[in-house]
Amino acid sequence: MGEAELPRCAVCRTSITVGEAVVFRQDGRVQHTSCPKVVCPLCSREVLPGTPIRRDGEALLHPACWSRRYRSAVRGSA
Ligand SMILES: [Zn+2]
Ligand SMILES: [Zn+2]
Repeated sequence: MGEAELPRCAVCRTSITVGEAVVFRQDGRVQHTSCPKVVCPLCSREVLPGTPIRRDGEALLHPACWSRRYRSAVRGSA
C-alpha cells in the first residue's frame, strides 16, 4: 500500500496530520477540533476560512498574492 494522502480540513483546508484532534462530520469530511491559524507566506496576513485560496504545495496563499508572485516570476524569467 502506498502512502495515503492526508485528508484536508473542511474548514481551514490545511492537511490534517497524525495526532491532530479532528471531528468527523456528517458529510464524510473531517475538520480540526480547533483549527490552527493559517497565514499567507507572501503577505503574512491570515487566510480566513471560507475565503478563496490558491495552493502552493502545502502552503495556502491569497489568490491576489499568488497571481502577483506568478506575474513577477514570469517577468523575472523573461
Ligand atoms: Zn482546520
Ligand atoms: Zn497573502
